[in-house]
Amino acid sequence: MSQMLERVAEGVWKTSVPCATLPPYHHTHCYWIDTPQGLVLVDTGDGDYVRYLFQAYHELGEPRLKAVIMTHAHRDHVGGAALVWEKWHVPLCLDFKDQDLLERDLLILPGWRNIGEENADMFSCVELISAPGHTEGQINLFLPTSGILIAGDNLLGNTTSVITPPHGHLRTYLKTLDRLQSLNARLALPAHGDVITDPTRYITLYRRHRFERLAQIRDVLNRKPLSANEIAKMIYPEAQRAIGERMIISHLQYLLEDKEITLGDDNRYARISS
Ligand SMILES: [Zn+2]
Repeated sequence: MSQMLERVAEGVWKTSVPCATLPPYHHTHCYWIDTPQGLVLVDTGDGDYVRYLFQAYHELGEPRLKAVIMTHAHRDHVGGAALVWEKWHVPLCLDFKDQDLLERDLLILPGWRNIGEENADMFSCVELISAPGHTEGQINLFLPTSGILIAGDNLLGNTTSVITPPHGHLRTYLKTLDRLQSLNARLALPAHGDVITDPTRYITLYRRHRFERLAQIRDVLNRKPLSANEIAKMIYPEAQRAIGERMIISHLQYLLEDKEITLGDDNRYARISS
């Protein structure tokens, strides 16, 4: 097979679309799933290389394409929607809780269709799972026969996922991790990075990482009140500080919800609740 089409398992293929995405990644992995209802494409990537999908589809023998399912509405996942719609005119399925994230050039497309867990039986061999946290409307797909989980941005190969407000929510994300872990998937296919061969253990490490981060933040706040920016400077290397600060905000939000910390009058300085 060509570089545009990689067979991952029986009836599942991957096309990696080079595009602008979060560092350290340079691709969004899009997946093709063969279902009794027709072929399903998951995510489109963004930019010029969306055309890789057309080449891949050709290599698959151009079977009936049933739908494109977007794991969520971040640009690096849905940016190819206009090209895909123009070429195939198939439903562009998205959980509309993410609709606010669509940029105007995409929002105007007539092909959008709202899906969620209520459409779980849309395909007989694929379960749609509402998996919010990275965004509110994130959809993951589970293939029970092969134990494959298509994890969108909830699990990323080689590094941890990004949870930043206002669309990301740490507590929700941690609940989603529990849910994903309960699937006992054999293989998780992330939208970025390498295939995850031991999802159960991987999710345990992800969860541990978040709780360690929370503990680290409690620890520095125990010494003195600090802003998210100051905490980020203590915890993240310089190159990751901008995103790091947003990650810290999601952890502060978690601690605020538990009333473990309070914010000063200026809304910037977090302190441990007395
Ligand atoms: Zn994303």
